[in-house]
Amino acid sequence: MTKEEEIPDWVGAQEFYDKYEPKEILGRGVSSVVRRCVDKRTSQDYAVKIIDITPSDKMSPHEIEEIREATVKEIDILKKVYGGKNIIQLKDCYESNAFFFLVFDLMRRGELFDYLTEKVTLSEKETRNIMRALLEVVQYLHSQNIVHRDLKPENILLDDEMNIKLTDFGFAVQITPEQKLKEVCGTPGYLAPEIIECSMDGGHGGYSTAVDIWSSGVIMYTLLAGSPPFWHRKQMLMLRMILAGTYDFSSPEWEDRSDTVKDLISRMLVVDPKQRFTATDVLNHSFFSQYVVDEVRQFTPYRRFKVICMTVLATMRIYCNYRRAKPVTKEVIKSDPYAVKPIRKLIDACAFKIYGHWVKKGQTQNRAALFENTPKAILLSLAAEADEPIQHIW
Ligand code: ADP
Ligand code: MG
Repeated sequence: MTKEEEIPDWVGAQEFYDKYEPKEILGRGVSSVVRRCVDKRTSQDYAVKIIDITPSDKMSPHEIEEIREATVKEIDILKKVYGGKNIIQLKDCYESNAFFFLVFDLMRRGELFDYLTEKVTLSEKETRNIMRALLEVVQYLHSQNIVHRDLKPENILLDDEMNIKLTDFGFAVQITPEQKLKEVCGTPGYLAPEIIECSMDGGHGGYSTAVDIWSSGVIMYTLLAGSPPFWHRKQMLMLRMILAGTYDFSSPEWEDRSDTVKDLISRMLVVDPKQRFTATDVLNHSFFSQYVVDEVRQFTPYRRFKVICMTVLATMRIYCNYRRAKPVTKEVIKSDPYAVKPIRKLIDACAFKIYGHWVKKGQTQNRAALFENTPKAILLSLAAEADEPIQHIW
């Protein structure tokens, strides 16, 4: 009898099932399924990420070994970042020859992606709270020379109090301060230009922590506009847009957004990583120093004068806008309903209610398609998805 036969494959799994009872599915990844589970002793709820490494026809032994190695690395990083603010905590982990079980705190409100789908777009205030928490995590990770490499709303989870926690360290890696990475990984819409360049040019110098700032910029844009900055039905054209840094603030959602927030995004979505803001630069930007509660409460005489002036100006602006506003007649609604803000919001909200489940299924099925607001655009997206399957990792 060999040693492997003596120690049954079941051991690690049995230990997990002795302690926890798995419940409904919360989410799925490329090679994992995440379920709610209950600690039998304390009745406390957790989330367990079950990674399947069973030999099967679908996966070659080489692929299985790759997943095993990647999971060991993920566990190693999760242990390194344990206790970090706004980072998911690995409570327990078990390994057998067929499965890994990673037990985490349960984030009851699920993904930021689903929250955004429900709300369509977020206010600047809510975006500020989420992005501040995210950038503080990124700043902490980068201070440890850890690059996350897969920042996106699906990997940002929300607890009962709407606090965020960053998860999915499957692509995260710790480097030395001068080290450059060349491996092409991540999710297409969130890839920094230098990662795409690495895939096209074997002699490229590589990339580093700045890729996380690019992805954070894409997230911030998406939270405010509802649709991502770089998107095209043809993936090749989308990658070209990223390489050239071609995006704009022209959609109607941007009309009500401040110049401060646009300025910050444009300093994160900079093609040259050396010119791009660092996490500390982002957190020091005036967008984050606005509306600090203590500052507002303790008014100096000068600030009081400034607030009075601003209030008078704002009142005048509201009055002038009111006088200029055209009445919303049946004709206006009929000829261009999308130009009327409340109707535009209603159309977008209805589209997300109907198609929300669909926008997440594939990489080409993107929120952006829903903002085109024509049935033809949605059909074209579906057709493109059928032609052009896109992998999570190249
Ligand atoms: P993958 O690496 O396969 O993408 P993730 O770690 O991102 O796996 O988990 C997949 C999905 O499972 C997440 O996007 C989320 O919807 C859900 N999920 C993961 N962890 C938790 C958790 N702690 N609480 C609630 N849901 C979770
Ligand atoms: Mg994930």
